[in-house]
Amino acid sequence: MTGGWEQLPDGIRAIDTMTAGVTKVTAGYLLDAARPTLVECGPALSVQHVIDGLRDLGMDPGDLAYLVLSHIHLDHAGGAGDVARAFPSATIVVSEIGARHLVDPERLNNSSRRVYGDLMDSVYGDCTPIAPERVRGVGDGERLDLGGGRRLLLLHTPGHAKHHIAAYDDDSGALFVGDSVGVKLPGMTMIRPATPPPDFDLVLAHRTLDRYKALAPKVVYLAHYGAVDPPLEALNEADERLRLWAGTAEAAYAEHAELDHVTDTLARRFADDIDSASEDPDVEARVTLLSGYASNAMGLMRYFDLRAQGRTAN
Ligand SMILES: [Zn+2]
Repeated sequence: MTGGWEQLPDGIRAIDTMTAGVTKVTAGYLLDAARPTLVECGPALSVQHVIDGLRDLGMDPGDLAYLVLSHIHLDHAGGAGDVARAFPSATIVVSEIGARHLVDPERLNNSSRRVYGDLMDSVYGDCTPIAPERVRGVGDGERLDLGGGRRLLLLHTPGHAKHHIAAYDDDSGALFVGDSVGVKLPGMTMIRPATPPPDFDLVLAHRTLDRYKALAPKVVYLAHYGAVDPPLEALNEADERLRLWAGTAEAAYAEHAELDHVTDTLARRFADDIDSASEDPDVEARVTLLSGYASNAMGLMRYFDLRAQGRTAN
C-alpha cells in the first residue's frame, strides 16, 4: 500500500511515509529546487514508500541533493540510512548535536528500543549507519542553498528534543517544524503538545514557539501531519495547549508521583482533542502511535524531576 503524495503551494509536495502502514502519521516534504530537498523520511521499516514515492515523482538516484531531518527520533530519521543508499548524492542534514548518532546509530537504536519496546520490530526498525562525509551537522542560523535563489534557514529549536532543528524557506514563508509545535493528526481537533522523554524541556519548548512567532511564517508544516492554519493562530494555540498540558501533568504529579496517575489525568482532561465522530478508520492507530499519553507524561515527569534538582536535560 502506498500513501502517495499531495501537491502543496510553492513547489512543495507532501509524501506520506505510511509509517506503521497507517496513512498520514508522518509526512516527508519534498521541495522542488535545483537541488531537490526532502524534509523528514520517517522510520526505516516504512521508508521504501518514501523512496518509491520519490522515484514516482521522477527523482533518479543522483537527483536528491539533501535530506533534512528535524531531529533524530526514529519516526523522523530512522530511514535516513536507506535514503542515503538509494540516493547516493544526497547529503543528510541534521543538528550538529545529533549528527554523530547517524554515523554510528548503535546508541540511538538501543535507546529507541528501550522507549519503543516491541514497536521497534513492528513499526520503526533500526537506523543504519551513514558515512560521515555524507552527514552535515548544522548549527543555528546556517543556510542551505537549494539553488535558483531558494534557501533554507536552519534554526536550532530545542524543547521537544535538545537536537531539534526547524527549516524556514524564507522565499515562500514555509516553516517546517518537525515536532516542536506539537502534533495535529487527521482526526484531532487541536494541536497536542509532544513532550516525550528523554530530553523534553518546557522552558525551551515555549521559547522555540516564541521564536517561530517572531518569524511570522506564511505556513507552518507539522511532521505529524501537514499544515496548521492560520500560522500565528496555530502557534498561539500550540503555546496555550502546551501550558495547559504541562500544568495538568504537573498538578497530577504533585497529587501522586506515579506515571499511571499522570497518564490517566492527561487522558481524561484531553479526550476531546480526538474527534470521536470521525469516520477515518486510522484515527485511533495514528493517535496511539504518535501521541500516546504515557510517553508524553513520562517526558514531563522527567522534566519536573530534573527541574526539582535544579537541572535540565539540555
Ligand atoms: Zn520527536
